[in-house]
Amino acid sequence: MEQPQLFARSDRPKSVVSVGSLRFGESFIVIAGPCSVESERQLLDTAWMVKEAGADALRGGAFKPRTSPYSFQGLGLAGLKILEKARRETGLPVVTEVLDPRDVPWVSEFADVLQIGARNIQNFSLLKEAGKGSRPVLLKRGMNSTLEEWLNSAEYILSGGNPGVILCERGIRTFEVYTRNTLDISAVPAIRELSHLPIIVDPAHGTGRASLIEPMSLAAAAAGSDGLLIEAQVHPEEALSDRPQTLPPELFRNLVRKVRAVRECWERLQ
Ligand code: PEP
Ligand code: MN
Repeated sequence: MEQPQLFARSDRPKSVVSVGSLRFGESFIVIAGPCSVESERQLLDTAWMVKEAGADALRGGAFKPRTSPYSFQGLGLAGLKILEKARRETGLPVVTEVLDPRDVPWVSEFADVLQIGARNIQNFSLLKEAGKGSRPVLLKRGMNSTLEEWLNSAEYILSGGNPGVILCERGIRTFEVYTRNTLDISAVPAIRELSHLPIIVDPAHGTGRASLIEPMSLAAAAAGSDGLLIEAQVHPEEALSDRPQTLPPELFRNLVRKVRAVRECWERLQ
């Protein structure tokens, strides 16, 4: 028997994943915020900053998947409560990562979009649990996943009954060490050929270097990305995680202005 491929393009039109009034897959969506939620002040000031710069949604990790167990692990529930407050005050929908399948139901009460990170792309119990719910899922590409493996991870969520999957290219591990990962921009048009799912790009984890984020964002928009995930905060020099790739307000504002211009141009050319 031929297996279904719910992710596949076949003759399906492009999917639109709605998050409040945002429509992933239709308009270009910018998600921005700190790597980790660290304090109420940091997050609220950052939420207003990214909103004023033109972001559509707020990101921030309350559960952090850190390489070392001694690194900052996130504020957990306290962080989610801060995100909730920022959403209430700014109106920005919130994207936050979930690490453990047992946390999916209750974290879903705080998040508008659940993020499943690169390290969890083949955590099948987590994918299945996210598939049972109705919260849209932002599914990062694993640092060593092929497009097929990534799409099969999406299939776990779709086949569980949750149609709200947004794919996010965040770089893969190669022999290059100058950049933190190698951002695979070709994944954007490739995914558009293979799948109807929205695809966005995360040039922050993709490069690990603040100076490379704007050019790679422009490249992503020109390649047909449905949006961006950017790490930015009011005082990046104080960030407890991913400091070298966190943009300060001025650079973030310029990035949004330029990327919207490239996107407009791309739309005109379609
Ligand atoms: C993040 O978005 O902060 C993160 C940990 O991303 P990734 O899973 O892509 O490393
Ligand atoms: Mn990060």
